[in-house]
Amino acid sequence: MREKKIHYKDINVFITCSLCNGYLIDAATIPECLHTFCKTCIAAYLENDEEDNTRCPKCDSVIDHVNPWRVLVFDRTLQSIAYKLVPHLYKEEIERQIAYYKERDLSYPPSLVEKLQEKRDEEEQQIIPANSDLHIYDDQVAICIDTKTKDLQSLPRKFIICSSNATVTHLKKLLAKMIFQDPCQYRKIDIYLDEQILGKDHTMRFISLTKWRHKMPPICLTYGIASD
Ligand SMILES: [Zn+2]
Ligand SMILES: [Zn+2]
Repeated sequence: MREKKIHYKDINVFITCSLCNGYLIDAATIPECLHTFCKTCIAAYLENDEEDNTRCPKCDSVIDHVNPWRVLVFDRTLQSIAYKLVPHLYKEEIERQIAYYKERDLSYPPSLVEKLQEKRDEEEQQIIPANSDLHIYDDQVAICIDTKTKDLQSLPRKFIICSSNATVTHLKKLLAKMIFQDPCQYRKIDIYLDEQILGKDHTMRFISLTKWRHKMPPICLTYGIASD
């Protein structure tokens, strides 16, 4: 199939807010006519009593004005398309929000905390190029790992051979993938050696040279639900 080139000028109209002429931020749609604006732009418009603001600024459809906040639909799909098409937009919006809350010495609202978390998860999930060295030539360590308190299931295979450069976080992601079918949920897991929780950045080499120094391999670890 031939790839079709799409020009920004053809799609800009769908991801631009006609009130501020910028790309959509927190896209909010009027259900009567399905026109979409930035949340703050349409809010300012609806709250301005001086003009006739009971109609859509674009097509004049009458908006249910009893409680416009209840009828506005937050369009997550369109917003994520806008962010995908204009990558710097998302970054700038997050930076703008961080600056706003820092300036006023306020704590971040849950929506911003969630965005920061998503951003971090995405960065950590960067796809590895097919020709990259997957650490198969590193020194290997043998690990035996089992559930600690039975709050998480046992693995079908308890023995793992992995690179000595692998960190506790890598191991947690592997466990999350096997237990929750989702490596992103690795923060739910703590890994222990004896009764001690292992730091997330410790490598297997470090653990074998310090905490398992005079013992025979494999390194015996356990895991359980993270206490927060
Ligand atoms: Zn706008
Ligand atoms: Zn409209």
